[in-house]
Amino acid sequence: MEYDTLIIGGGPAGCTAALYAARAGLQTPLLTGPELGGQLASAGTVENCPGSAPSSGPDLAAAMLEQARKAGAELRGETAVSLDLSRRTVRTSAGTYQGRTVIYAAGARPRTLDVPGAETLRGRGVSFCAACDGPLFRGRDAAVVGGGNSAVGEALDLSRLCRRVWLVHRRNALRAERRELERLEAAENIMPIWNAEITAILGRDRVTGLSYRDISTGELRQLACDGVFVAIGRLPNTEPLRGQLHLDAAGYVPAGEDTRTELPGVFAAGDVRQKSLRQIVTAAADGAMAAHMAADWLGHQ
Ligand SMILES: Cc1cc2nc3c(=O)[nH]c(=O)nc-3n(C[C@H](O)[C@H](O)[C@H](O)COP(=O)(O)OP(=O)(O)OC[C@H]3O[C@@H](n4cnc5c(N)ncnc54)[C@H](O)[C@@H]3O)c2cc1C
Repeated sequence: MEYDTLIIGGGPAGCTAALYAARAGLQTPLLTGPELGGQLASAGTVENCPGSAPSSGPDLAAAMLEQARKAGAELRGETAVSLDLSRRTVRTSAGTYQGRTVIYAAGARPRTLDVPGAETLRGRGVSFCAACDGPLFRGRDAAVVGGGNSAVGEALDLSRLCRRVWLVHRRNALRAERRELERLEAAENIMPIWNAEITAILGRDRVTGLSYRDISTGELRQLACDGVFVAIGRLPNTEPLRGQLHLDAAGYVPAGEDTRTELPGVFAAGDVRQKSLRQIVTAAADGAMAAHMAADWLGHQ
């Protein structure tokens, strides 16, 4: 069977694309992939979604999926394992889908630290999500690595649970919204460590601490802690596109705001797209635009 539009990704971009496409009368399977709801499923409280009171990321993700389903999209918990975009064919472990158009909205995943211990202690004290794993560190000590909005948000979430939280950053200033910085300053149990380059995560079976180099003095130091939360940015899930579409140096799809890619009938929406602000609203806006462009493209065929 040939579908009007295949949507790959069950985050805000994919859900919004599915909502708009289904409402436009297009036959739309939504392949949700490994992370139902996308990154929102691991977000804490979301406060910047217009029209919605502060709500938990997982609740918001569940509402988006349900809204897409009710509009008529077919939600499928399948992951695209290979794509042939020139033929607009997607293969999953359950079968092969043929689309007249494809909306690629597979989002992003956390960037990891390339130091000893970061992989081996993953899930044993090394985490990428305070909202998911924070309760495991209640009353204990944790370090957050990073200096942007995500790192500050993670540190604030943990400060409500942990005894002490160190915010370890390789520069001497944070890049976060003013409101978040004010909250950070008000939190008495968050201590920044500046100019610190992580050299290893320590521990045999579980994290016992980390070591870092003080960039300003060159000195090697250690910090004892029970958990290390890594918040140093994200990588786009665009590996399946390699060799089929031109990607930029960081792996993002160079599509404009109309979400059109260099391939006819193929659109890129959300965090996979080259853009300067990766948020829920920008992902949702891309999803709406991609569905609109897909319907337009089909209308001209
Ligand atoms: C901890 C955290 C907190 C955040 N807090 C906020 C906030 O407060 N406000 C805000 O605006 N933004 C926030 N963000 C950013 C926001 O979540 C993202 O910008 C947004 O989710 C991007 O949506 P997306 O649909 O493009 O991608 P994602 O949310 O990454 O969704 C990608 C989807 O693609 C699926 N997928 C991946 N590979 C495949 C495949 N091969 N086949 C099929 N499906 C696949 C995944 O399973 C997932 O469902 C936060 C992010 C994080 C990590």
